[in-house]
Amino acid sequence: MDMTPEMLAKIRASLAHALEGDFYRTRFRGVIPDDIRTRADFEKLPFTEKEDLRDAYPLGLLAVPDEAVVRIHSSSGTTGTPVIIPYTQKDVDDWSLMFRRCYETAGITNKDRIHITPGYGLWTAGIGFQLGAELLGAMAIPMGPGNTDKQIQMMMDMKSTVLGATSSYALLLAEEIERRGVRDRIHLKKGVIGSERWGEKMRRRIASELGVELYDIYGLTEIYGPGIGMSCRHECGMHMWTDFLYYEIIDPKTGLPVPEGEVGEIVITTLQKEGAPLIRYRTHDLTRDLPGPCACGLDFPRIDTLIGRSDDMVKVKGSLIYPSTVDTLLAQVDGVSSEYQIMIDHLNGKDILTLFFETPLEDRDTRKALEKTVEADFKKMIGIVPKAKAVGLGELPRSEKKSTRIFDNRY
Ligand code: ZN
Repeated sequence: MDMTPEMLAKIRASLAHALEGDFYRTRFRGVIPDDIRTRADFEKLPFTEKEDLRDAYPLGLLAVPDEAVVRIHSSSGTTGTPVIIPYTQKDVDDWSLMFRRCYETAGITNKDRIHITPGYGLWTAGIGFQLGAELLGAMAIPMGPGNTDKQIQMMMDMKSTVLGATSSYALLLAEEIERRGVRDRIHLKKGVIGSERWGEKMRRRIASELGVELYDIYGLTEIYGPGIGMSCRHECGMHMWTDFLYYEIIDPKTGLPVPEGEVGEIVITTLQKEGAPLIRYRTHDLTRDLPGPCACGLDFPRIDTLIGRSDDMVKVKGSLIYPSTVDTLLAQVDGVSSEYQIMIDHLNGKDILTLFFETPLEDRDTRKALEKTVEADFKKMIGIVPKAKAVGLGELPRSEKKSTRIFDNRY
């Protein structure tokens, strides 16, 4: 995004605040905010990595006195030490404002009833949806995840109009509603789906099975939580709330900015955060800048729907595999559903890639033919031949959190 003089001034102020805490005072020894006069000056500052945040466990990120902290959240972290993010009251209020703006961007109003399925607790997801809903004046229905029977019952009884969920949980609910034949008792109009890369085919299935308009919401615990960016009705990426953050798109390998419009990793600097300000934080989310104004008239820049994570890319026999490429590939094969899983194993000195995909078709010969088609397309698009294996609808695991598609068992 553009670096205006106003933006530079905001960055200097945020940097000055960050330097009040031990975390950046140690890391950025010798850095003087007033010396940051240009974009190039700013880009000389080192990145902040998730690993650095882990090393600061438990409260090493704190940049305000203890008594100013009203809450903590923690990012799940699949392995090892979690990351603890402290929030001041202003941080909580700013987050609510951003989340309300997300709802407004989707045309959601105080007449809506928002069915919230992401988890509550240390995780930021559920409570983020809740804060925004309450500030908007909508009716929050704080379900949290799990218990599909109760979810569907409440959705019918409360006449929920908006569903907040991860894409895989939205799909699970859509499938259950379909299976039970209760769709005419569901009042959902819109789905706000948590940031995660999800393919076009999955999107179409959720939208058509639930009969809703879908919106993407972006965010991560390290930077408030969900709510820092949102798609509008024009479905052209997500608007980013650049009054609260500055972002860059970099080449994950070199750390240098990518040419405008090319895919790279989004790196975020907070502009107003008090409890745990972050400078040049590497999200590992892959996306691209979408230049130009949006037809909705919102004056906030846009990034594309997430394409994947830089740490999800895997290399097999010299070919790079992005989950989004597999989404695109499967979307083009008739009779193949959106759900898949890839297993990569190392056997007898060779890498073996197995691709499981779901299909509603049960005939054995038809499945064999589908497997052959998928194997040939995979070879054409990615350059290697997998072992494709068709399974029935619903046989692959659905997750309430972000779903993992590629399992690398080689190491
Ligand atoms: Zn727009």
